[in-house]
Amino acid sequence: MIISGKELSLKLKAQLAEEVATFPERYGRVPHLVVILVGEDPGSVSYVTGKAKACDAVGIRNTTERYPVTITEQELLDRIEALNGDDTVDGILVQLPLPKHIDEDRVIAAIRQEKDVDGFHPLNVASLWLKQPCVLPCTPKGIIKMLKEAGVEISGKRAVVIGRSNIVGLPVAKLLLDENATVTIAHSRTQNLAELTRQAEILVVAIGRPKFVQADMVSEGTVVIDVGVNRDPETGKLCGDVDYAAIEPKASVITPVPGGVGPMTITCLMENTVECFKRRFTK
Ligand code: NAP
Repeated sequence: MIISGKELSLKLKAQLAEEVATFPERYGRVPHLVVILVGEDPGSVSYVTGKAKACDAVGIRNTTERYPVTITEQELLDRIEALNGDDTVDGILVQLPLPKHIDEDRVIAAIRQEKDVDGFHPLNVASLWLKQPCVLPCTPKGIIKMLKEAGVEISGKRAVVIGRSNIVGLPVAKLLLDENATVTIAHSRTQNLAELTRQAEILVVAIGRPKFVQADMVSEGTVVIDVGVNRDPETGKLCGDVDYAAIEPKASVITPVPGGVGPMTITCLMENTVECFKRRFTK
């Protein structure tokens, strides 16, 4: 079974659009997301464009603020402070990575927790680990939704996550743990990785290396979630961290790249924006 993140996203965005359409009457306006883009990195520009398109599809007001790479950290922090205090803004997202002279941690921490639609703010991260209500980071949230949509039973399963980044590996491991999987986190220092991954019933791969996971690393019937977004060095096309052609016949469930985790990440951003908006009105 192939989980199409693209199709599931279309369904979820249509549901969200219906809900958002009721907001002007219920709340007097629609949610407003502000995306800050520093510089012209093509990857970042493309992500920001995708986010704006999704907002349009759902009916979320969106503003992209573009700044040159020469912006200072203080100027960026001042702008975030102004957006924090702006009552017409419900969500603030700073597209990462930022130029080297800007401290990303400081910028993320400057966003008011209630407007942190990415779920990266230290207080949101703490709430996730303490199992308190919070904005969940978009990629891990999307992965759990895909597993559930595919009818995958997570409870009691052996899950292996390759990658331990703050935005994917660690939070997805925590969410799988919260769903009662038995979770192992692997990384670049893990010994005998293939031995470990062959034991996985659910394998989540978030490394950033084209086709790193080969067929001999996966057992028959494994559920495989491929988070990677890479350029195939041979064809120049987008590909995941998993050798899809080799593993698809062995996997019971697999996500493609493109059209898998990526679209769900953006859809979860839409959900988070709507959540932040509603929370402001129900306080
Ligand atoms: P990251 O911060 O670079 O982290 C990569 C992780 O992979 C690290 O924990 C690293 O281990 C581990 N790793 C690297 N080489 C390894 C190896 N040979 N064996 C085992 N582990 C290895 O990356 P990220 O931000 O999590 O992103 C991972 C991938 O997902 C990238 O391709 C990114 O573009 C993609 N991504 C996709 C989405 C989406 O929506 N589809 C969202 C976010 C990210 P160490 O900690 O030991 O260095």
